[in-house]
Amino acid sequence: MPVKIAEEWLTTCGGCEITLLDVGEPLLEILPELEFVHMPVLMDHKYSGQAGENPGTLVIPEADIGFISGGIRHEENRHVAEEMRKKVNTLVAVGACANFGGIPALANMYTVEDIIKMAYDETETTDAHPVPDDDLPKLEERVSAVSEVVKVDVALPGCPTTPELYVQAITALLKGEALVLPERSVCDDCPMKREKKAVTEIKRPLEKPDWPADKPIEEVRCLMEQGYLCLGPVTHSACGGEEKIPRCIKAHMPCRGCFGLIREGANPQIDMMTALSSIGLNPRQIEDRRAMFNRFVGAQGRLRPLPQRR
Ligand code: SF4
Ligand code: SF4
Ligand code: SF4
Repeated sequence: MPVKIAEEWLTTCGGCEITLLDVGEPLLEILPELEFVHMPVLMDHKYSGQAGENPGTLVIPEADIGFISGGIRHEENRHVAEEMRKKVNTLVAVGACANFGGIPALANMYTVEDIIKMAYDETETTDAHPVPDDDLPKLEERVSAVSEVVKVDVALPGCPTTPELYVQAITALLKGEALVLPERSVCDDCPMKREKKAVTEIKRPLEKPDWPADKPIEEVRCLMEQGYLCLGPVTHSACGGEEKIPRCIKAHMPCRGCFGLIREGANPQIDMMTALSSIGLNPRQIEDRRAMFNRFVGAQGRLRPLPQRR
């Protein structure tokens, strides 16, 4: 009997679903063992039934494994997450949004009232506009990770996660095991050369690093020591696939932190400020440090509106 898989997306960009479709040939190898019973990105599944026969009802078929991407921004997202939890045996949270709030959770620095005011009233390029509310789900006060609302059994972080992790997770689950990622930082797996001291200025990310094309990566100086804001010291490493070289570093770009926390309870803002100071870079040069260091992990209470200064 094939293993039944259901997939749902909450507040998401769809990148994590596309990553599953990007798995390519390895997916063909495991496909005979799988049956996708629900996947809105590929199949037309409607709230209220295909022909509106169940008004207001969400029908998710029962499945062995459920993948869920996106964070919880509004009451419909919460309902879908709860329904998935009821219908699947093993729930896998996919991507930074589902695991830590992801980019949408940057909104947690503002109140819902402020966000609505900015979007419909105050943005220079928008004509002031009544706030639409007909038939729209109510926004929640905060963007939450899926694990804040229902129990999650397996976490596949990343923005997006990687095709390799999807395959590893599915293969492990087919054997009755849950994929557990080791607690390593991106720096632990990065082969770049460290000298424990940096240039003094923090550079803009689009400035080209000193990385001659003919130099092997092991001989090129660490990007943070070159003055780029690289979140490798505070980011969970699992994006490098078999080679283990972190995905962005391989592309000559600093790590932006998309695989989230190395361990539960970590505070990336404090840890990153310590890492920068330890090589002589002044973290105060970075505008909006709270957002930069929590860019993908703003749920679970890490980002909140600051009290107004008087
Ligand atoms: S983690 Fe990134 S790719 Fe995945 S849904 Fe969120 S924004 Fe999109
Ligand atoms: S700070 Fe960035 S470039 Fe430097 S070792 Fe860590 S991951 Fe590599
Ligand atoms: S290097 Fe950092 S930002 Fe890039 S994919 Fe890996 S964890 Fe994400």
